[in-house]
Amino acid sequence: MAAFPTVQDLAAADTDAVMALWKGLGYYSRARNLHKAAHIIAEERAGKLPQNATDWASLPGIGPYTAAAISSICFDEAVPVVDGNVQRVVSRLFDIEDAVDRKKGKAAVDTACQALIDTRNPGKSNQAWMELGALVCAPRSPRCGECPVAEGCLARQRGTVLDRPVKQPKKAPQAVDVVFSVHLRTGPSGDQQWWVERRPESGIWSQLESFPCTMDMRAPGAEEVKGAVPDRPKRFGPVAHILTHRKMTAWFEVATDPARPSNGGRWVDCMEGTANWPRLIDKVLPELRGWIGKK
Ligand code: SF4
Repeated sequence: MAAFPTVQDLAAADTDAVMALWKGLGYYSRARNLHKAAHIIAEERAGKLPQNATDWASLPGIGPYTAAAISSICFDEAVPVVDGNVQRVVSRLFDIEDAVDRKKGKAAVDTACQALIDTRNPGKSNQAWMELGALVCAPRSPRCGECPVAEGCLARQRGTVLDRPVKQPKKAPQAVDVVFSVHLRTGPSGDQQWWVERRPESGIWSQLESFPCTMDMRAPGAEEVKGAVPDRPKRFGPVAHILTHRKMTAWFEVATDPARPSNGGRWVDCMEGTANWPRLIDKVLPELRGWIGKK
């Protein structure tokens, strides 16, 4: 707010200046989207802020939740803000039996939230429901005795409180095979260097630096194909790694084709590496260096 007090100031700012101020906060796509949204407002909409939640949601980086929060809290629009806390309170109040992360259950929650909102003061009303979920209607130990809406709570009457909200069973993580290509060269001062590239803006490991790699989603239920992929003499691995929705199996191989400078990569000393590796690479670096040394 100090550096860019108005949307026009933010729009006119250099991307590097915006990213430098965001440094250390993580989720860098938020800074990029904020900057893009400021551009759109300043240049395409004559500096005029969106007037309702639908309009807010048309800006980059603003989903339905944020759009409803801005619109109700800042502009008094009567749109419900549905976060995990509100979802839990409402599914208990109305004893919603459908999974709240499926279409039907989600629609039931949305309808209930719309009915509950205090249209005279939508922002405060939304914040009150969120707060109730965060402080009173806790997931495992709800404090029903202190709850201001306990009298009308159907789940409480029916003894189903801890069974709500219903959620669909979590999917098994997707198995992914990753092969990293390690390009090597001897640097100008005789040091061994490897080639790293910045990952794309979206997708896995966005904006981190990594060796160039290929990823193959394994068909559901398919076993790792023993021998077919990893059994080449030049490969290091397999390295198992778990991401939120993915179970990775990674191999590293010394590349025989030349590195591609067009991909915005750079040569770095193998002993120094980069501060922006994916954790998967970070955790095997010492072994990887040892293995590279034997090549
Ligand atoms: S009575 Fe209990 S379960 Fe029902 S909304 Fe209040 S805290 Fe949640």
